Amino acid sequence: MKCTRCRARAEVQLRAHNSAFCRACFLFFFRRQVERAIAAERMFAPGERILVAVSGGKDSLALWHVLAELGYDTSGLYLGLGIGAYSDESHAKAAAFAAARGLPLRVVALDEEADGLAVPTVARLTRRPACAACGKMKRHYFDRAAIEGGFDVLATGHNLDDEAARLMGNVLRWQKEHLARQRPVLPPTHPKFVRKVKPLYLTSEYETAAYAFMRGIDYIVDECPNAAGATQLVYKDALNRLEASSPGTKLAFVREFLRTAQPVFADVENRPPTECAACGMPAYGALCSFCSLVREVQTKRARAHAAAAPA
Ligand code: AMP
Ligand code: ZN
Repeated sequence: MKCTRCRARAEVQLRAHNSAFCRACFLFFFRRQVERAIAAERMFAPGERILVAVSGGKDSLALWHVLAELGYDTSGLYLGLGIGAYSDESHAKAAAFAAARGLPLRVVALDEEADGLAVPTVARLTRRPACAACGKMKRHYFDRAAIEGGFDVLATGHNLDDEAARLMGNVLRWQKEHLARQRPVLPPTHPKFVRKVKPLYLTSEYETAAYAFMRGIDYIVDECPNAAGATQLVYKDALNRLEASSPGTKLAFVREFLRTAQPVFADVENRPPTECAACGMPAYGALCSFCSLVREVQTKRARAHAAAAPA
């Protein structure tokens, strides 16, 4: 197989793009794809301060790598979610990546914060699926770190596979409010929110893995232990089968949704948030969803203590 650009021996084949690339041309293609996404969606401009949420996985570290290389002003943010050995190892990968490249990394350990709640405790006490609690908590800490650090933008490593799986979940249940907000750029709806962007939304997981490998990025390969059995993985598997029989399916699914269907849903009424009575961050009720979660945990804990106490 020959490189589509230079006819050298190809190392990666991208059937969705009807292309194959040698190493140098793949790196060029990858970078250009990210640059195009940033420009086409007006994600950010040179000089803006970007906080890159890094999990220690391939996508977010590849994103940070390419943004830093493109000359953007970036800092990393790692959240210690308290998920045992998985969190320890992912923290080590993110820290080593930053140190080796002299990039600034902020670390927030959830169990050392005011509420002292890590993901496993919240999931156990609220009897919610760990991923639901985790998503809520991550969003809260992302928002807070971005505004407190004076950043203009928060970037996450969500890739094409993530976006396609999320879209499938939203479509299967016709979740209008979720579809209304599934976009690669979310402008802030409140002064305490910053713009949120996903520069890898059209880049497949296979491409970020190839990029990370070629660039010698050491990342955590293991999936989060909580993800086992998550519906998201079932959707990803289904999409991979569709992609195998019809290359380009994921790309078309996400791209055409954004082009043709998303604007219809964007009209779904989205009230602007007010402020949370407990933490002051934007909220859609009296409390933001993070503080309601914390409240729920505290109530359940108090009840458990009362039940355990001798009469
Ligand atoms: P996930 O929700 O695990 O699929 O991750 C989606 C994106 O959220 C990643 O690409 C990262 O940008 C970000 N992210 C996930 N986990 C963390 C973490 N522990 N700390 C910082 N960012 C994270
Ligand atoms: Zn709050």
